[in-house]
Amino acid sequence: DITKSLNFLEHIIEEDINGGFSSQKLRFRFPPEPNGYLHIGHASSICLNFGLGIKYGAPVNLRFDDTNPAKEEQEYVDAIKKDITWLGFKWDQECYASDYFQQLYDWAIQLIKNGKAYVDSQTSDDIALQKGTPTQAGKESPYRERPVEENLDLFEKMKNGEFKEGEHVLRAKIDMASSNMLMRDPIMYRILHKHHHNTGNDWCIYPMYDWAHGESDYIEQVSHSLCTLEFLPHRELYDWFLDQIYDESKVRPKQREFARRNLSHTVVSKRKLLKLVQEDVVSGWDDPRMPTISGLRRRGYTPASIKNFADTIGIAKRENLIDVSLLEFCAREDLNKTAPRVMAVLDPLKVVITNYPENKEEWLDAENNPEEEVMTYRKVPFSREIYIEKEDFKEEANRKFFRLKIGSEVRLKNAYIIKAESCVKDAEGNITEVHCTYDEDSKSGSGTEASMRKVKGTLHWVSVKHAGEAEVRIYDRLFSEAEPDRHEDKDFMEFVNPDSLKVVTGFIEPSLNNANPGDRFQFQRLGYFCVDKNSLSNKIVFNKTVGLRDTWAK
Ligand code: ATP
Ligand code: MG
Ligand code: MG
Repeated sequence: DITKSLNFLEHIIEEDINGGFSSQKLRFRFPPEPNGYLHIGHASSICLNFGLGIKYGAPVNLRFDDTNPAKEEQEYVDAIKKDITWLGFKWDQECYASDYFQQLYDWAIQLIKNGKAYVDSQTSDDIALQKGTPTQAGKESPYRERPVEENLDLFEKMKNGEFKEGEHVLRAKIDMASSNMLMRDPIMYRILHKHHHNTGNDWCIYPMYDWAHGESDYIEQVSHSLCTLEFLPHRELYDWFLDQIYDESKVRPKQREFARRNLSHTVVSKRKLLKLVQEDVVSGWDDPRMPTISGLRRRGYTPASIKNFADTIGIAKRENLIDVSLLEFCAREDLNKTAPRVMAVLDPLKVVITNYPENKEEWLDAENNPEEEVMTYRKVPFSREIYIEKEDFKEEANRKFFRLKIGSEVRLKNAYIIKAESCVKDAEGNITEVHCTYDEDSKSGSGTEASMRKVKGTLHWVSVKHAGEAEVRIYDRLFSEAEPDRHEDKDFMEFVNPDSLKVVTGFIEPSLNNANPGDRFQFQRLGYFCVDKNSLSNKIVFNKTVGLRDTWAK
């Protein structure tokens, strides 16, 4: 039974189709307000809406909900388009609520003429005081019965810029005793003498979200307007506004709600993310620690990993917290398939192979990715001096330490078996060099008996004289608390993790010298890394995406 695998929104759509709604008329939209960069919560909404578009072969509009000129900017419009495109989705029409300002204004006049809207000349404080409480009816404005002609005249003057901000508002005339507070004569327009990123100085009255949203859906003939749960109480108003202008021959949009997605150890709110940017807690909206799509991209996340994450969590009717380790799991799963393997050493210790000739070097074959169907190889240089990770050597260790220790052997990945003989220390007793011997017949892939010899540990390494230097940025969670913005007595900023960024200098195999910003790799045994846009021709910069270890309990 196919309907079993449908989510509750798909069930609603299926019921509409079964009830006679033509599937040809399905249309969806993703409606961001361009007041910040998109975050991982938006990715859920994008995957939902564009996913439905793909599933039903229906168009999906990108609608900028730009009714508040105070907070909106072209930079955000551009960033939003870039992120959706990068995720791999194509919108049908690029729409702006601000393109409908004239139509909305004309409809507002129609409402006034029909006695459904009036100009209120009270202060916003007075209006707020009259709202009442959920259990107590509000008080009607003294301007509620203003004659239509006077309303029309004042509204036109509001539009023509004859008043200051706050002098008048246009309100819908609904019901001051409604049990739904939003129905108590909601404001439709306020005066704002502000420049708008799209309409410039054409307008000085701006529609409120509730007035603009449903009517924009109607203008675009969106059939299913999917939004997050906080809009559930707005649905009645959405429908009331549509009732005022609806033409029966057209598609009547339907608002339906799903739960917002929250991610642990971060904040998914543009307002809060903007604060992190403005207060220099991060380097920008695309800082790799940010839960923004641009931050995740720079961190090394693939579009597939973000889409898999959104599909895995699915949609829900109730809010809950998703552990960030699930997102990391999705990154690892995709990168394991797609990221070429390379060798890099981030905390180097020099190893000298004393029986390897001084001037000799060899270029050994190394597998690019064991997950590939048809294996491809690259060459890595080997020589007498190599770097290994400091933590891969111990002078003495118990039997469970399968890495390098004096008197025992390990295999060097793609190369030879070596045996530690002695180590060199500085005045403080720190180990500065390890002296080893190698088994000349043990070269990986050479087919000799010695090459098949089983030794417990395999280490990654880079040849000292061939190594490139790289700046490697290693990240920890941006917040030390799972839900930094759910504390009643503390601001989320108090939970910023002061140690969320560590920068080290690492050594990389020479094949990485030609890597470009955005390229992703697995540094063997260390994790996944992505070339950062800050890379210079003489110094490459890597961001650590995630470690290799799967900490997510499947
Ligand atoms: P923010 O508080 O971060 O500004 P918003 O809801 O105000 O979020 P919009 O630009 O209005 O941001 O969002 C565009 C669409 O994305 C809306 O339909 C909204 O409901 C949805 N959306 C926003 N945040 C989330 C989230 N955390 N999970 C799922 N959907 C979300
Ligand atoms: Mg919003
Ligand atoms: Mg918002």
